[in-house]
Amino acid sequence: MKRPLKRSAKDCPFCQIANGKLPVSQRFADADMIAFDDIHPHAPIHVLVVPKKHIASLADITPKDKELMGKMIYRCKELAKKLNIADSGYRVTVNVGKWGGQVVPHLHFHLLGGAPLTERLSSYTEAAVLLSK
Ligand code: 5GP
Ligand code: ZN
Repeated sequence: MKRPLKRSAKDCPFCQIANGKLPVSQRFADADMIAFDDIHPHAPIHVLVVPKKHIASLADITPKDKELMGKMIYRCKELAKKLNIADSGYRVTVNVGKWGGQVVPHLHFHLLGGAPLTERLSSYTEAAVLLSK
């Protein structure tokens, strides 16, 4: 099972990417965020939109982050246009915490497209539920 790793901002991989210490295929960057190709893409287009400041998860945003969240969602829409997946359709997802499937403990939006995506957003098995208890 995927489990979020307990890491501080100091050794967080997405902080290192935001600081230019880890190379990525960058799609966008400004003062607030960076967007880059996922290293293990789940679709022909799989971009991660990541705030430059360390926020561990969507569950950790505060009222101060509302404007940043709006900018990130807007960027997903703009990137979809830029990457030519706007007309065919795409998906934006956020995994939150252990059962949400979050592995990297730095908030990120997944922008997926470029092929028809499965209808089901996610699934679970009764076995997985039993194991997690
Ligand atoms: P999560 O499961 O936390 O929502 O998604 C984390 C995503 O980050 C995964 O899809 C994974 O492939 C991607 N990822 C993890 N480490 C790196 C990295 O160092 N570089 C890039 N480009 N993607 C990464
Ligand atoms: Zn971080």
